[in-house]
Amino acid sequence: MMDMNKLVRPNILRLQPYRSARDEYQGQAEVFLDANENPWGSLNRYPDPMQNALREAIAQIKNIGSNQLILGNGSDELIDMILKVFCQPAVDSVTICPPTYGMYEVVANIQGIDVVRVALDEAFQPRVDEILSTPSKVLFLCSPNNPTGNSLEHIETLVQQFDGIVVLDEAYADFSQKAPGISLLSRYPNLVVIQTLSKAWGLAGARIGMAFATPEIIRLLSSVKPPYNVSNPNQIAALSALKRLKRHETQKRTILNQRTWLIRQLNKISSIQRVFPSDSNFLLVQVDDANRLYDNLCQLGIITRNRHSVVRNCLRITVGKPAENKRLIQALQTIYP
Ligand SMILES: *Cc1c(COP(=O)(O)O)cnc(C)c1O
Repeated sequence: MMDMNKLVRPNILRLQPYRSARDEYQGQAEVFLDANENPWGSLNRYPDPMQNALREAIAQIKNIGSNQLILGNGSDELIDMILKVFCQPAVDSVTICPPTYGMYEVVANIQGIDVVRVALDEAFQPRVDEILSTPSKVLFLCSPNNPTGNSLEHIETLVQQFDGIVVLDEAYADFSQKAPGISLLSRYPNLVVIQTLSKAWGLAGARIGMAFATPEIIRLLSSVKPPYNVSNPNQIAALSALKRLKRHETQKRTILNQRTWLIRQLNKISSIQRVFPSDSNFLLVQVDDANRLYDNLCQLGIITRNRHSVVRNCLRITVGKPAENKRLIQALQTIYP
């Protein structure tokens, strides 16, 4: 059994977390003279620091205890909080598997934490033995992976055998049949699963990320959380989006159908060399000259993500609305007559 105290940064184990006025008061009051707010207005009050209503709503949808869930100002903030809890600057390292989401490395760099890179293999799958032999405190796995789009294999083996915390970033879980994260939590106390409302739930502007883990890890993460990290308008926007489950399912289905349509259309264009398999709402597409195609598309008013620097001659293309996807295909037919 893993000793969590050995994994946690010593100053965090000793930390006396900040307690806000609203943390200390629990009941129902009518007169609030505790937080130096202006008594007039509609956004005059601080938000609920524990985000209880929103966490309950998410816990219900995800079928997990609300004490196994913490919210961040986007999952990017959660990545930052995880490293603050577990990695000592200039002492500990994290392992990442490139090509993958760029923020793991940026956050580690900002905090002065070393990054060990074990590249995915040619099929964009993790090299299990090499990963397990790294001495890192934290392993980042992204599945479905950004920017390659595929789901990773060997996730459970890695969680089981990695001697440290495994952060499984499932930002694209809603688009995939293979996102096992939450179902693994009861068996693996070293697992932290990250999801977000930014992608399938249509709330990128509201910045709501979710981390799922044991109550013990959630308590540790709470101790480094900025008290009012999710604003009131954002909590309200999220609660109302989560109530519209039917719209969510319809949009998701449309995106997945459009993904199938896009793959078929892209494969008809001979200068497109490869459309990689995707379990997410984007496609990694290999072309003859990604830099040139990126510029040509920009000139036609279509922005894609040029990933040439991480996967040779590849663009990452988000699945948009049907009319937008049609416009992309028309643009490609103009560029590659
Ligand atoms: C988009 C994305 C995120 C960021 O999510 P936010 O909640 O918007 O911060 C995290 N991880 C991956 C892999 C992503 O692609």
